[in-house]
Amino acid sequence: MPVASDTDGVETVERTADGDGDIPINELFCSLQGEGRLAGVPSVFVRTSGCNLRCWFCDSYHTSWEPTGDWYGVDDLVEAVAGYDADHVVLTGGEPLLHADTVDLLDALADRGYHTTVETNGTIFRDAPIDLASVSPKLRSSTPTAERDPRGDGEWAERHERRRLDVETLATFVDEYDTQLKFVVTGPDDMAEIERLVGRIRDAADTPLPDEAVLLMPEGQTRERLNETRRVVADLAVEYGYRYTPRLHVDLWNDAPGT
Ligand code: SF4
Repeated sequence: MPVASDTDGVETVERTADGDGDIPINELFCSLQGEGRLAGVPSVFVRTSGCNLRCWFCDSYHTSWEPTGDWYGVDDLVEAVAGYDADHVVLTGGEPLLHADTVDLLDALADRGYHTTVETNGTIFRDAPIDLASVSPKLRSSTPTAERDPRGDGEWAERHERRRLDVETLATFVDEYDTQLKFVVTGPDDMAEIERLVGRIRDAADTPLPDEAVLLMPEGQTRERLNETRRVVADLAVEYGYRYTPRLHVDLWNDAPGT
């Protein structure tokens, strides 16, 4: 059985004694891409375990706050992906780019003609065949303060705050990959920070970042919560000229795992 540890934040899933794989995997499944400009496209999701951040609203709790998973080799993962009838693969987490061997996985998927999306918090850059970098920079409102910490003590707040943004790394994504910037928006108070950050990334990158590549996504892991946030965030997208992205998987399946 996997052994989970949340004390380090980098090496977050311990290798089991008999483990012979390379990447800690929390789950692998086929569904519809729920977010971003490929929303609605059937895709195989490869969810790695482990994250260097701890957003209080994390919708993949068992890859960050309580990381669990088993280690798999690249060949096994490619074989599992091939078992589904989809030509898009979404590598997600957790933070998939924590794990160096994800580059080998992306190479293998590209060799087989898959379109690859990588969902990342944008704090770690790796050179790999990525068709769409879906980068979700974390705003101040993501910090797990004592009041918001799902565990109630706020011990991750300082580390999260220190690690959550690296403008140079974000600009490198924009320069090297077809990139969408996806912001989880809790309300109008987030917009000034988003505007400032988009401006800083544009200043640091050589490649233009159009408004349509900046996506506002309502915060919410349940239909009930999305009912409170989606209209507010849609109105903000209209007001600021950015793109709105739904959370189709929450609309369709609420908070069911494997969706
Ligand atoms: S960066 Fe993503 S996976 Fe990591 S804690 Fe935040 S929401 Fe969860």
